[in-house]
Order: sequence, then structure tokens, then C-alpha cells
Amino acid sequence: SQPLLVADGVSKSFGATHALNGASLQVFPGEVLALTGPSGSGKSTLLHCLSGILAPDSGRVSYEGRDLTTLTDRERSALRRGAFGFVFQFGQLVPELTCLENVALPLRLAGVRRTRAERSAADLLTRLEVGEVAGKRPGQTSGGQGQRVAVARALITSPRVIFADEPTGALDSRNGEQVMRLLVAAAKERSSAVVLVTHEARIASCADREVAFRDGAAVFAEAAR
Ligand code: ADP
Ligand code: ADP
Repeated sequence: SQPLLVADGVSKSFGATHALNGASLQVFPGEVLALTGPSGSGKSTLLHCLSGILAPDSGRVSYEGRDLTTLTDRERSALRRGAFGFVFQFGQLVPELTCLENVALPLRLAGVRRTRAERSAADLLTRLEVGEVAGKRPGQTSGGQGQRVAVARALITSPRVIFADEPTGALDSRNGEQVMRLLVAAAKERSSAVVLVTHEARIASCADREVAFRDGAAVFAEAAR
């Protein structure tokens, strides 16, 4: 099949720091891809370029064959709200809303009626084994529960790609692995691809494929598991 996302010779510097040096990568529909490598090797920077948050200095990033840099700001933000979902390490839930309202929010913003949005959100929270926190605020949940809620919020619109930057980085290894397994299973059910940044081998082992980074470029692409 055709790749969904392609990075081709992407370079990006911050002042004198060359974060990416000609990084190339393809993401295929529905696959779970882990970007691994030491701290500072450029993984997060590539994730930001792939998701259109950062513009590369040189090279190309395309989504479904369209160069992201040729899109208008409005088209790029529509992509980020529609086709893409995001899970970060910390602080992405709205503290004033309940967990259920947080998960339903992307659907509400897309114009789905409250009852239907909240029914979908409740189903997904149950699927992620945190149905019991639906009525709580994010500050009243444990770290593991909060990350499952954040995963649910990223998945609720069934995006084509979920970008996850160290999504389990704040959790202990047992909780981290559980959250990762649930994320992968729920993404597969929705045919969402996942691009995961992690420095933990056990988290990376949940992916279909792993690409290791060093000094701003992929050093090898492991065969599909
Ligand atoms: P990784 O995700 O592999 O840890 P990053 O992509 O975060 O690596 O960072 C790659 C390099 O770019 C590092 O040296 C980092 O300090 C630098 N860097 C990343 N983002 C910025 C930024 N916004 N401003 C300055 N330097 C940055
Ligand atoms: P997990 O193993 O999923 O991280 P815990 O065993 O830590 O969950 O938490 C069990 C219960 O304690 C949960 O119902 C959760 O709501 C509550 N809880 C955990 N941490 C906190 C916290 N920091 N603030 C409020 N409630 C918490």
C-alpha cells in the first residue's frame, strides 16, 4: 500500500544545533511505528515535522502525497484537528471538565450532539478500562488513569495517525506497558496509525516496526515484526 506520511531528507536546526540531518521515514496506514534512540537524537523534532507543527529547514514531509509546507495554515490546522491525534506525556486534559467531557470534546467541536458524543466517549473509556473515572476531573485520577483518558481523547475521532511523544514517560513500567497495549489495541480497531517516540525498549516492543535514530537521522529500519 501507499505510505500515509513520508519524511524525505528532512533537516532542522535550532541555532547551532542540528536536530535533524536528512531524516527519511515512511508511515503506512494502520501501522504502529516506534521512533527510538538516545535523548537528543531528533525523535521529537521529527514527530513535530511529521505532524506539521514544525516546518523543516530542508527536505519534504508529505501526507497522502501532499507536501505539508504547501498547505495554508488553515489547511494544516484542519489536518491537525481531523486526520491527526496527539498524546503527550503531561497536561493535555482540560482540568475544569470531567474525563467524559474531555474525551467527548473533539467530537463536540466537530459538531456531534452531546448525547451521542458522550455515549461514544463512555464506550471508549470502558474500552480503555477506565470507565469508572468518567465523572471525575483529571486532577482526581491517577497518572495511569489520566493517560488512558488522554489516549481516549486522541482516538475518539478515529484519526488516520496518532502522534504520541513519550506517552507513558511519566508512568511506572507496569502501568506504562498496560497503557501502551491498550493504545495499540484501540488504534488497531480504528485503523489509526501510531507514530510513537520512546526511549524505552519495552514500550517500543509494542510497535509493529521500530526505527532507531542517532544524530538526527534514522540509523536502521528494523524489519516488520
Ligand atoms: P529527542 O526527542 O531524540 O530527545 P529532540 O528532537 O527533542 O530529540 O532534540 C534534538 C536536538 O535539538 C537536541 O539537541 C535538542 O536540545 C534540540 N532542540 C529540540 N527542540 C529545540 C528547540 N525548540 N530549541 C532549541 N533546541 C532544540
Ligand atoms: P493506577 O494503578 O491506575 O495508577 P492507582 O492504584 O494509583 O491507579 O489509583 C487507584 C485509585 O486512587 C483511583 O480510583 C484513583 O482515582 C485514585 N487516585 C490515584 N492517584 C490519585 C491522585 N493523585 N489524586 C486523586 N486520586 C487518585
